[in-house]
Amino acid sequence: MTDKKVVKTDQEWKAQLTPEQYHVCRKKGTETAFTGKYWNSKEKGIYQCVCCGNELFSSDTKYDSGTGWPSFWAPIAAENVKTEEDNNLFMRRTEVLCSRCDAHLGHLFDDGPPPTDLRYCINSVSLKLVKPEQ
Ligand code: FE
Repeated sequence: MTDKKVVKTDQEWKAQLTPEQYHVCRKKGTETAFTGKYWNSKEKGIYQCVCCGNELFSSDTKYDSGTGWPSFWAPIAAENVKTEEDNNLFMRRTEVLCSRCDAHLGHLFDDGPPPTDLRYCINSVSLKLVKPEQ
């Protein structure tokens, strides 16, 4: 659901987030591979944006990409994420952001599994797994 944009100042994000969340989500940082909370997680649930709670990815589309970052072959809904060209570091990549609060989530590659052949390579720190009620 992308009903309403969430817009906050830098200071507000800083107050709300941990330093690592702030660095990755608001300053386009990258967590070290194989260190995040979810790269190896096989738990069922919905991965929400850690900044605004927007539902981003389902465990149903999560797969082991071998990269050390949680990887998904599709978002929950196309409109819940957005992509932008990222030419930082002289590498042409596609950045993935939360469409509601513009949090930096990770990058999108075209070497994923069927049916989409896409790999949403996402920082664990930008996600919050909400498990289904028992
Ligand atoms: Fe968000």
